[in-house]
Amino acid sequence: MEQYRVKPGQQIKLGEWNPADKSGLPAGKKAGGKQLRALNGQLEALQERLYAEGKHKILIVLQAMDAGGKDGTVRHVFEGVNPQGVSVVSFKKPSALELAHDYLWRVHQHAPGKGQITIFNRSHYEDVLVVRVNNLAPEGVWSKRFEHIVAFEKMLADEGTTILKFFLHLSPDEQKARLQARLDEPQKHWKFNPADLEQRKLWPEYMKAYEDVLSKTSTEWAPWYIVPANRKWYRNLVIGRVIVETLQGLNSQYPQPDFDPAAVTIE
Ligand code: AMP
Ligand code: MG
Repeated sequence: MEQYRVKPGQQIKLGEWNPADKSGLPAGKKAGGKQLRALNGQLEALQERLYAEGKHKILIVLQAMDAGGKDGTVRHVFEGVNPQGVSVVSFKKPSALELAHDYLWRVHQHAPGKGQITIFNRSHYEDVLVVRVNNLAPEGVWSKRFEHIVAFEKMLADEGTTILKFFLHLSPDEQKARLQARLDEPQKHWKFNPADLEQRKLWPEYMKAYEDVLSKTSTEWAPWYIVPANRKWYRNLVIGRVIVETLQGLNSQYPQPDFDPAAVTIE
């Protein structure tokens, strides 16, 4: 999965990254589904040990264009994992109270605690993406944020947080098909937001903003992965693999009891 990791300082041109790529894993849709179920099982076991050990904090950031697959990733990659110990935080348009504070204020309070996995569905990166592209703040304000974000994530990492960031890379054609499906299928109407069409018109501006994010904020302590997202099964496998491999590397252990279980008799 190394091929999808953005190296620190690497200059990203998204035109060179294929959203339909599937070269990294020898699977097809069917075999991919089977592999994902195996990963779900591994993740379930790893999460239980992480939770029992209560030492590491895991932060997973998901960013994508609309219909990029953030919700589907949460649903499929974490299927079967005990909801106790995993939380999902979806960042929407900031409230008046949130806007009255600095942009990291609402984010920091949701950072994971010991033994916890927290998934950010959108994140502080919106403050250099939607905010930049829609001129919600002047350049003099948002351009300073890359530096803040790198430092913020360094602080979280120094304090024991493992951070993984995934950009779900979709083609404009695939987005069109997915938005159309939200119009065509009654059970998907609730997902359709006419405002998404306005954002879609700004695609080139968004890609430029994402290129800056990926080029400026991928670090040793909080790497970005550019995930080919046109195929849902492939997207799930790539993200699942990276998370499972990262958790395996932490090597969490069940805590040793501070008593002798053999010496305890239950009357
Ligand atoms: P969704 O993820 O489809 O529920 O939509 C959430 C919306 O909130 C998206 O249009 C985001 O761009 C928007 N949003 C999230 N964070 C911010 C932010 N910091 N400033 C402005 N809009 C935001
Ligand atoms: Mg939406």
